[in-house]
Amino acid sequence: MKGVLKLGRILGTSIEVHWTFSLLLLWIAYLDFQRGGNLNSTLISIAFVLVLFLCVVLHELGHAQMAKRFKINTKKITLLPIGGVATMEKIPEKPKQELLVAIAGPAVNVVIVLLLSLVVPFRTYFSLDIANLETLLRTSTLEVFLFYLLMANVMLVIFNLIPAFPMDGGRVLRALLSFKMDRVNATSIAAGLGQFLAILFFILGFIFNPFLILIALFIFIGAQSEYQMVKQNALLKGFKAKEAMLTKISLLKPNDTMSEVVKLVLDSTEKDFVVVDNENIVGVVLNKDIIKYSDKPSMTVKDVMQTTFKTVDASEEINKIFGLFGNERNGFFPVLENKKLVGAIDLTNISEFIVFKSKIIQT
Ligand SMILES: [Zn+2]
Repeated sequence: MKGVLKLGRILGTSIEVHWTFSLLLLWIAYLDFQRGGNLNSTLISIAFVLVLFLCVVLHELGHAQMAKRFKINTKKITLLPIGGVATMEKIPEKPKQELLVAIAGPAVNVVIVLLLSLVVPFRTYFSLDIANLETLLRTSTLEVFLFYLLMANVMLVIFNLIPAFPMDGGRVLRALLSFKMDRVNATSIAAGLGQFLAILFFILGFIFNPFLILIALFIFIGAQSEYQMVKQNALLKGFKAKEAMLTKISLLKPNDTMSEVVKLVLDSTEKDFVVVDNENIVGVVLNKDIIKYSDKPSMTVKDVMQTTFKTVDASEEINKIFGLFGNERNGFFPVLENKKLVGAIDLTNISEFIVFKSKIIQT
């Protein structure tokens, strides 16, 4: 994600905060100012948000630690004004694993609530009449601060467990459904309910809290894209790189000039190229670099090629290659069979493969 500040690493996961998070702090300060607060109360409000987001980080680390038990690493946790997002290498496909990973986050908040209830005499708070409670809650003591934190964690648990896929509750629902039906159908039901709830949040957002509108959009788009992904994975399951790859590819040599490369691009439909020297693959030339250096006709391929690149084996599953597109900067991979170059694969030609395969399944 662009525009993030890296805060550091905890348990192998990088913690990042998105720049829009600063808008949340400004907004909180503004609300406090509007309520007639002073510098002291504003600082307390901001401190509260920061501590609450620390709880959010712990919640995400809960997901990450559980995922690690199933050998899934979490690359990063990103803090956004609407909450945290843990980016895992993949989403656990076994229902039991998905269930445990989804529950581990809210479980952390339950633990926080239990710990806080040891120090906050919340029963006394609830035995007070409204007027006295209001007066008490307006005082700025550590106890009141922790009481708010306790209540906020209770809210986090309740909110996260609403079955609005891809929120935690929605993942729990999909996992439970997956025990009874295949993953595509389970995701379709969970995503459908998620989108219905998102529309509800959207409407409620206009009445109560604009943050709900943002969360609604996040859920709506998330549900849609994850459903597409699951459908695609099911469609591609079992197919190998060999079946989708480009076999008629032009090879470049390190000493070819940019003018020759540009001509090749214009004469064919190829965009990226493999560079071969004495039958060894020495690099790849990417379309973006061809465009970048197209005005330098005498430059050679060896000056513009990428020398760090991944290759894939012809027997590699297409689903696995899909994972590479997210991680690698290059979206173009030479394909090898018995260590010999047999073709290349990129996102466009996998997309074409999907279009044809889905056509066959529909008819
Ligand atoms: Zn969560």
